[in-house]
Amino acid sequence: MTTAIESQYHFTAEVKSKGKQQNRDGWAMVVDWKLPGSQYDLTLYGQDWETVRDVVMDEKGQGPLCIFTINQGNLKKDKTGQYSSDYFWDMVGIEQTWIAGDGERVASDEAPPVQAPPKPNPAPAPPARTPAPKDQPFEIPPNPAALGACHNHAVDFIVRGILPVPEGRELFGWVRELRDSFYREINQAPVAPLHYCYQHDQERRQGPDGGWGHKLPKEADDHADSYCIEGREGWRVFDASQR
Ligand SMILES: [Zn+2]
Repeated sequence: MTTAIESQYHFTAEVKSKGKQQNRDGWAMVVDWKLPGSQYDLTLYGQDWETVRDVVMDEKGQGPLCIFTINQGNLKKDKTGQYSSDYFWDMVGIEQTWIAGDGERVASDEAPPVQAPPKPNPAPAPPARTPAPKDQPFEIPPNPAALGACHNHAVDFIVRGILPVPEGRELFGWVRELRDSFYREINQAPVAPLHYCYQHDQERRQGPDGGWGHKLPKEADDHADSYCIEGREGWRVFDASQR
């Protein structure tokens, strides 16, 4: 029997320490996250200091909260590969979570997250406000600043109990799911026309009385037409001129 080991993990964790590797050039970082089945905090290694330039430890020795993507690397010496900790793990992505919505510091310009896996022909980055239709296959690299803001909102909604982690779900997956749907369906959604009905996801038309409404699907064949009127959401108005 073989135990399946994930070949990639994506998680949010605080950086506990960052420094130079002992025996060679390059950096080492301990993060507040453990591989499944391991009792030790994960240590990540890398050669390129640019990658971790924005990971700054504060005066109390606390590091930032980052979103990591790691891929399984080589098997460690004298290990069987039975456990995930038998392998080296290569950091293929790191994103800061502290990106401020007020533009005080926009990490995207300074430290683009390392993309994983590398795409064969990455499309040129779009202007920041390009709407991405929901059903478009997601090839445009996401705007890191906007994604960071969506991540912050997702965490905020969870912490406030507005969108708590559903039973049976784990936190990180839920944060990612919220972040992605905020990003795709809100942040990058095209701006709707005036008088749009967000509840039924359709445009309203102006009626003869000047009010804005759209037809609602009939509940029974012999019912008269009914309307959803702006300002009276949740009502089923049977004569659009009666307001
Ligand atoms: Zn409506």
